Amino acid sequence: MKLERGRAVLSSRTDGGAAPAVSVVVPIYNEEENVALLHQRLTEALGALGRSYEIVYVDDGSRDRSFARLCDAAATDRQVRIVRFRRNFGQTAALQAGIEESRGETLVFLDGDLQNDPADIGLLLARIDEGYDVVSGWRKDRHDPWLSRRLPSMAANWLISRVTGVVLRDYGCTLKAYRGEVIRPVKLYGEMHRFIPALVSWSGATVTEVPVRHQARRFGKSKYGISRTARVALDLITVKFLGSYSTKPLYVFGFAGLAFWLLAFLSGAIVIVERLLPPYPQAHNNPLLLLAVFLATLGVQSIMLGLLAELLVRTYHESQSKPTYVVRQVVQGGAAGSASQAAGDWPDLLPASSATSDH
Ligand code: UDP
Ligand code: MG
Repeated sequence: MKLERGRAVLSSRTDGGAAPAVSVVVPIYNEEENVALLHQRLTEALGALGRSYEIVYVDDGSRDRSFARLCDAAATDRQVRIVRFRRNFGQTAALQAGIEESRGETLVFLDGDLQNDPADIGLLLARIDEGYDVVSGWRKDRHDPWLSRRLPSMAANWLISRVTGVVLRDYGCTLKAYRGEVIRPVKLYGEMHRFIPALVSWSGATVTEVPVRHQARRFGKSKYGISRTARVALDLITVKFLGSYSTKPLYVFGFAGLAFWLLAFLSGAIVIVERLLPPYPQAHNNPLLLLAVFLATLGVQSIMLGLLAELLVRTYHESQSKPTYVVRQVVQGGAAGSASQAAGDWPDLLPASSATSDH
């Protein structure tokens, strides 16, 4: 998606200043009643923290007066930055744009509907200060409908935790904090913003959870229905595939191909054995013969597909010089004092920024 094409950034701050400690990214889609109060609460909460900050509002093609409300907030506040989409691209795209427009050392995501409490941002940042790379909000006492929201969400959290191996109680909570260097290389598609903790954890980031407050929506409507469940399930397949096999797709397709061949061999063997034993049925009347041929063909196709995918992976990595690993830091021996530096006094160097989509 070419976000740049439709880009209109309103900035009341000159570029090039020092990067703020915290960037808060807020996606806004038809939240006109919430914007003013949200901005007030956010500014109070951030002001109380005593850290430099910026707020990046991403107006995701709102069709109400959200943008005008945002401009009101930006008019008097140099910390505000508004990115306005040309049309509605979805919450994930909005967060991606927020990542790209923000400059903070730590990024905090927050919903624009006041369901999350801006006062909780301090809790998340405290854990980041302890050394965690990702701090995930956990809506312990959640105020959403049970059947359409909390139940699917419980199932989703269980499944995502199982499949990704990164156990979190609330993947769906937007209120999360990320160290800039771990989130910036991530590229999001579909509904994937909820998988960021798993994606970055695969790259070696440390993840923790803190309980946060949650309120029922007071103004405006939720933008999602039950259909989101299917999209999340499909995204989970993509995430798992890319996470585990993006550098070795033949392992998936090849194993499937071998399994098909094994089954084909078994079916074929049964056909032969049955042919040799009484009552000596004709092989061409045996449905297992058809199954054997079908499975053998499927096996060939799977392996061919795996080989094609291997070519694609090589093109992807080699044409763009994308490494298949993530470097934390490189220590050069020999320089005086480097032994103590290697022992941990070095500031963390940036991870190889291009390497994250491949774990
Ligand atoms: N949102 C967005 N684009 C969309 C849908 C939602 O930017 O296409 C924003 C929305 O304005 C809100 C946040 O994402 O700030 C979460 O949306 P919502 O509250 O509807 O989701 P829920 O809390 O019901 O899961
Ligand atoms: Mg909400």
